[in-house]
Amino acid sequence: MNCAFNFYMPVNILSGEDVLNQNKSIFSELGKKCLIVTGKTSAKKSGALDDITNLFSELNIEYEIYDEITENPLTVDCYNGGKLARDISANFIVGIGGGSPLDAAKAVCVYATNENIVDDDIYTTVVENSPLPLVLIGTTSGTGSEVSGVSVLTRKDGRKQSIGGKNYYAKYVIADAKYTYSMPYSVTVSTALDALCHAVESMFSPRADFLSIKFSLLSAKMIYPLLDKMNKTKELPSEEERNILYFASLYAGFALNKGGTGFPHGMGYALTEDFNVPHGLACAVFLPQYLKEAEKADSDLYNKLMNTMNTDFESLNALFCDFCLFDFTVSDEQIANYVDRWATLKNFKNSPTAFNNEDAGILVKKLFQK
Ligand code: NAP
Ligand code: FE
Repeated sequence: MNCAFNFYMPVNILSGEDVLNQNKSIFSELGKKCLIVTGKTSAKKSGALDDITNLFSELNIEYEIYDEITENPLTVDCYNGGKLARDISANFIVGIGGGSPLDAAKAVCVYATNENIVDDDIYTTVVENSPLPLVLIGTTSGTGSEVSGVSVLTRKDGRKQSIGGKNYYAKYVIADAKYTYSMPYSVTVSTALDALCHAVESMFSPRADFLSIKFSLLSAKMIYPLLDKMNKTKELPSEEERNILYFASLYAGFALNKGGTGFPHGMGYALTEDFNVPHGLACAVFLPQYLKEAEKADSDLYNKLMNTMNTDFESLNALFCDFCLFDFTVSDEQIANYVDRWATLKNFKNSPTAFNNEDAGILVKKLFQK
């Protein structure tokens, strides 16, 4: 057995009973002025915004709220957030929300200290100045953005593209599953599927190692039965189950941070861009094919995963089909366009077999031209 591993995650992740109040001192150490980056509703609905602003009043920390972040955040909105942070001389940023506001907050920190970087320049310009320090508070159980050095933004041409590296890690994460309790059923399902995709895709990546595979298996074991239950009951999970889903999404984030994502994520972006499919569903629809490839590449590991989830391919495929019900058709012209675009997609190289852009086009035709 090869037990070697490399693990780089420079994030201080705090969790446990009353985690925010138990760790007040981190905020005072970060400075006297904060910009809070959020979407329109989730920070309020989850209770996290009230908790943080009450704490800031107690600690005499001044703050402004930038709530312009949409789903699939735009580089332009992140740039404007960075400019605002500069204008108010913010010492640090707090990001509150699902993956969209958290990813956006990471970019805001970079724009804030690097005035020369405007909008899509963020993909190409070297970051010269250290980003502002960042605290993240997650409100969904999916992306694991809290713990990864990755930010997925939408460019001015409408295409989603990820960016990552040492400048995109938070300094602290306040991990409190109670902020996910307000998620509706649809977001709970979609984000749980996203987390399961992270666990599975990273597990069969050429970059996976002993430790990341452990995190993948742990996460998949926690998420799969709850997805199955949600499908059968059509009911929201209990608080205890939501705690499990939240921490499982972080464990999947640990695995993702090492292994990265495979072709389901690369292909899923197109469904979100062109058909507004929520991120988790957009990736999950391609996961059964990914598992077929995984079985070809490493049947032992594949069997281990299926045993860990206590399922088989047919049951998993049926479950994913139940969740991924779409009523749109992808035209031949769109498919040809995707096949061209995907010729350079790194996610195929980060997948277990030689499944490529041409194969991907055939799969899209099979799934979306009925
Ligand atoms: P999201 O886009 O952040 O949010 C989806 C919806 O759920 C929004 O309407 C949001 O409201 C709402 N919402 C979030 N938390 C809620 C809560 N506690 N209660 C009620 N409503 C809530 O969803 P997400 O799936 O977490 O993030 C998806 C994004 O993350 C995509 O852009 C994806 O590409 C990216 N992603 C990043 C990584 C990474 O490693 N960084 C990995 C995978 C995916 P508001 O609009 O008001 O916030
Ligand atoms: Fe994802």
